[in-house]
Amino acid sequence: MNSGDRRDSHPLRPTTKVLTEGFDPSLSVGSARPAVFRSSTYVFSSPEAAERAFDIAAGRAQVHEGESPDLIYARLNHPNAQILEEQILNLEPGATAALAFNSGMAAITTLLLTLLRPGQSIVYTVPIYGGTQHFIQDYLPKWGVASIPVHSGRGDLLESAIGSTENLGAVLLETPANPTLVMTDIRQVCKAVASRKLLPSETRPLVLVDNTLLGPAFQHPLSLGADLVVYSGTKYLSGFSDMLAGIVLAANRDLIRQIRPARGLFGNILQADECWMLGGRLPTVRLRMNRASKNAQRIAERLAQHPKIKRVHYPTLFTDSDQKRIYAEQCDFPGAMFSIDLLGGKKAAFDFLRNLRIARNAVSLGGVETLACHPKTTTHSGFTEEEFAQAGVTDGLVRVSIGIEHWRDLLDDFEQALVAL
Ligand SMILES: *Cc1c(COP(=O)(O)O)cnc(C)c1O
Repeated sequence: MNSGDRRDSHPLRPTTKVLTEGFDPSLSVGSARPAVFRSSTYVFSSPEAAERAFDIAAGRAQVHEGESPDLIYARLNHPNAQILEEQILNLEPGATAALAFNSGMAAITTLLLTLLRPGQSIVYTVPIYGGTQHFIQDYLPKWGVASIPVHSGRGDLLESAIGSTENLGAVLLETPANPTLVMTDIRQVCKAVASRKLLPSETRPLVLVDNTLLGPAFQHPLSLGADLVVYSGTKYLSGFSDMLAGIVLAANRDLIRQIRPARGLFGNILQADECWMLGGRLPTVRLRMNRASKNAQRIAERLAQHPKIKRVHYPTLFTDSDQKRIYAEQCDFPGAMFSIDLLGGKKAAFDFLRNLRIARNAVSLGGVETLACHPKTTTHSGFTEEEFAQAGVTDGLVRVSIGIEHWRDLLDDFEQALVAL
């Protein structure tokens, strides 16, 4: 809840700033760490302050520099959302404003419904998160928004879709793609968008990146030119598989000003307890992601040698030269997700999952505990045969989200599960 000026004048690093900025103990009766404010409604300091707060909330007036308008009602805003949003800015280079939502899907749907107009189109990478795909393909057309899917890693096709799609409103990238970690070059997409010829009636399309898999620790889309970053906070940000959350961060705070009123109407702001929980997890997100990524790299590179495994999909094991280049230019570390393609198809994959003793068979990812699932029959089961083939989702594919256990114990677990096949 501090003003932005301290952020600009102090050359502090993100791991320090996330603990020192965005929270003022004097506003929480001196608590060293944020308290929880569960109120649904707030008492105004005066009727004039109430009038001013409503003018600002309705967009009839803008907040002045240094002004902190009275809170109104928790569906519109509340102290824990404000604290969380100020804290998380420190982890995303280039972000000037953020919004917290009830889930990743709440963030994505609110974003798209707010920013796109009937008659516009959206270009997006596939495979993309199942819920996102369902929304874009089956819901957006009802609101007059056309969708153009482009295969992850096909920068050439993305460039031509961006150049040739009429009335393009947004480009949504999910990189790396799940479950094979194929990467899309964010900077190349931003350049293609910037060089697009605009008709007088058009505005520049926005570039949106779902950064759930590698951010905020290892990939920084806003510093590569993207307009908005979205997260499922359910994954690495919260990190313990015990809550749902979504976060949107923008390079330009005007975009957040546009989206905020929709969140107030849709009623999908993240509630106080969850904001408090998520805020408390932010100082450790880099520690957790670093440890999990180191674990995953050690395990993935060893499993790649295993005779019962056809292939391991992991950034440090990329063979395609363009994929290697994107990884080197775009990511600080390879992350904690990999997929293994087992010889022996579905039966081998199911037996492998059954044999695991430490890793648990569950969907989702980004927790401190290791999870594994069979994408073809779970997370990606809605795909057509053609989509399976294009996304590299084979019968023998098992997706793994590595946690922070000791990597040798995890490797032993995978090896014993393979021996028993
Ligand atoms: C989980 C996930 C989502 C959806 O987030 P929820 O918090 O489950 O609504 C969106 N994108 C990606 C990449 C995800 O992994």
